[in-house]
Amino acid sequence: MNYIEVILPLPLEGTFTYAVPEVMEKKVQIGVRVLVPFGKTKMYVGVCNSMPAPLNIDETEAKTEPTETKIEPTTAKVELTTTKVEPTGAKTKPRKSVNYKEILSVMDNEPVLLPQQLRLWHWVADYYMSPLGDVYKAALPSGLKAEDGYRPKMETYVCLDERYRNEQALHIALDSLKRATKQQKILIAYLELSGIAADATLLLEDVTTTNVDTLRLKRVTQEELLNTTHSTITLFRNLIDKHILRTYQREVGRLGCGETADEERIKPLNEAQTTAYNQLLLQMMSHNVTLLHGVTSSGKTEIYIHLIQKAINDHQQVLYLLPEIALTVQIMERLKRVFGHRLGIYHSRYSDAERVEIWQKQLSAHPYDVILGARSAVFLPFKQLGLVIIDEEHETSFKQQDPAPRYHARSAAIVLAQMYGAKTLLGTATPSMESYYNAQQGKYGMVTLATRYQDIQMPEIEVVDVKDLQRRKMMKSMFSPRLLAAVRTALENGEQAILFQNRRGFAPMVECHVCGWVPKCPNCDVSLTYHKNMSLLTCHYCGYTYRVPDHCPNCESKEIRGRGYGTEKIEDEIMNIFPEARVSRMDLDTTRTKNAYERIINDFSSGKTNLLIGTQMISKGLDFDKVSVVGILNADTMLNYPDFRSYEHAFMMMSQVSGRAGRKGKRGLVILQTKNHDLPVIQQVVRNDYSGFYASLLEERKEFHYPPFYHLVYVYLKHRNDDTVNSAALEMGSRLRELFGTRVLGPDKPAVARIKTLHIRKIVLKLENGLDYRLAKNYLRQVKDAMMAEKRYGALTVYYDVDPL
Ligand code: ADP
Ligand code: ZN
Ligand code: ZN
Repeated sequence: MNYIEVILPLPLEGTFTYAVPEVMEKKVQIGVRVLVPFGKTKMYVGVCNSMPAPLNIDETEAKTEPTETKIEPTTAKVELTTTKVEPTGAKTKPRKSVNYKEILSVMDNEPVLLPQQLRLWHWVADYYMSPLGDVYKAALPSGLKAEDGYRPKMETYVCLDERYRNEQALHIALDSLKRATKQQKILIAYLELSGIAADATLLLEDVTTTNVDTLRLKRVTQEELLNTTHSTITLFRNLIDKHILRTYQREVGRLGCGETADEERIKPLNEAQTTAYNQLLLQMMSHNVTLLHGVTSSGKTEIYIHLIQKAINDHQQVLYLLPEIALTVQIMERLKRVFGHRLGIYHSRYSDAERVEIWQKQLSAHPYDVILGARSAVFLPFKQLGLVIIDEEHETSFKQQDPAPRYHARSAAIVLAQMYGAKTLLGTATPSMESYYNAQQGKYGMVTLATRYQDIQMPEIEVVDVKDLQRRKMMKSMFSPRLLAAVRTALENGEQAILFQNRRGFAPMVECHVCGWVPKCPNCDVSLTYHKNMSLLTCHYCGYTYRVPDHCPNCESKEIRGRGYGTEKIEDEIMNIFPEARVSRMDLDTTRTKNAYERIINDFSSGKTNLLIGTQMISKGLDFDKVSVVGILNADTMLNYPDFRSYEHAFMMMSQVSGRAGRKGKRGLVILQTKNHDLPVIQQVVRNDYSGFYASLLEERKEFHYPPFYHLVYVYLKHRNDDTVNSAALEMGSRLRELFGTRVLGPDKPAVARIKTLHIRKIVLKLENGLDYRLAKNYLRQVKDAMMAEKRYGALTVYYDVDPL
């Protein structure tokens, strides 16, 4: 009998051994999917990780035998202590008399994973210390994980008949159905499902001809419509007969059909851009990774377009990664216009079926030349990858937080590119410390583009001293007179304004309302987190804890209070001050529904609204014409956020938000409100002084042992019981200290110390550059396994977050 190793979509380390019935032996290849039994009753779609080979029990590094495991996916953590799951490569005593289960079927004729993808899975699992099964879950679209497999199928869709695609006609149609309430109900349901009910401008969009990638109108299937209205097909047919609705057929996903390859000529680069482009080509000759540091609106995207075109001419594929939120219609349209049907788009708003289809297309003889996608597009198969572009490379959302794998798409993409011998280009106006450091060290190439396209000036940034204004009782809620005046002028001139409030403004902390003092950790350069019910202040990084002082050590006042205010309150207040303004708000709450994000942006772009209030979402890759004023309401919540990266994030956020001002035609004005106007970082933002900012921060990072000089690993322990997790964390801390000594900080309680009924402890590891990470991580794995195997800790969860953000 021959055996293979199979990766299963379970949160478990390593692979599982299965026997291959002789009839299937020829069909099994690395990267094909196989259906396998698991436990007593389960079946999973696994991915074959090795070629069939005889199993020599005495030599093999034993893997789990599924016959003996009792693991259920949802309770895996609970049972891990009693099963024989071994991490990859762990040596155990050979077990004789093992009866490996047989695979049930081989699902593919050709692999769904190319060798590079499989290697990437292993790299991610290994580097981020995540179970391979979790990487599998994150990488493959669900359709490829399902047992029934994926079949492209024709689907019947519904849309309004042409003659009813305007509001007036639509009202007439609705009226005409007054007596046919069931039919009226179907029509109304269609209007709601399609998004037309909420936004009549969608009436102008034609689903049958418009490119689906840029479509805002939601496509509605006949099935969906009948289901939501509990209607019969006969009833529905009435609307078709009346020519109010009509149906059309499409293959699900419908890739490649009907897309007009409306390719326009690529815009010629100006002189500065041409120079940068040539420098990039040169840098790429001698570096695998090159950083393009170009100010906002310098035309980085135009340069990418030229590089993509060059790669296509050289018969290479391109992966273009953007943070999810920046993947707006604006950028998709721009690329579609140039690359037409050569461009595939892959992100979370696409249905799973569509994602499966893109996956399949990448494996076909005619894959997309260019993939524009969010984080998870890094897992797509490529045949001839030649260039990877990571736009807005500083964006923290490239790192997956929860669940595992906690990978950074930038790092994964760089590794992927190297597997193909491809080049990576990182682009941003505000490089991450890590990337800039690598460039300074000569590890990455670097090209700078310091002028905006058409030499539009960088915005003027005016700092407003909120502390002083509050003292003089001149703040109107959170608005300074200067900001209100600027907004008023903009509105009167028919221009637009953006007010930015940091999302992290909600983070619990305390401050002195008289002098603005915020308690800081004496051991780390971060603000302390406020735990209200205990009246305690703690530091995430070293566990330092003390009580909230009853008076301010700075000014003796007793006005020490918790704080944080949100965008909703700002919206209410601004509408009182400017009743004539057309205000919209963009934050997590207002963008929950599909298309809401785009609707808000389009309304603002088209001038339907003229005052936009928002969180960081508004800073992402948007290009507005008429914004003359940007107000940063409160820089301090960013600066005081309890994190060693707070200045880095604050600088980037303020610079990016400022970049939205005065993009075309006119110098923009930014009003930056802060209580810390004399902090160097504020002046660095004002002067657009990235290198000054970088230099000062680098000093700090070195002194306090942070990246880029150290790699951080956070250790999380979770348990239902607080005492148990506490003693487990203490034990784990001392086990880690045995080897790593003072590199270990904690354990302490994270700011959010209980999630999903589990109590959490966190230990911080700071590993200096040059350490042998392979050995370090092996030890970490051992400690983790040992901890989880401890009976007295029961259902303890332990996981690592490598290079946390
Ligand atoms: P960045 O990506 O650096 O923020 P963009 O590429 O978005 O900058 O460019 C800003 C604006 O200037 C866009 O509207 C873009 O179309 C325009 N632009 C930039 N370079 C050119 C060019 N060479 N020719 C025509 N328009 C350009
Ligand atoms: Zn004070
Ligand atoms: Zn501390």
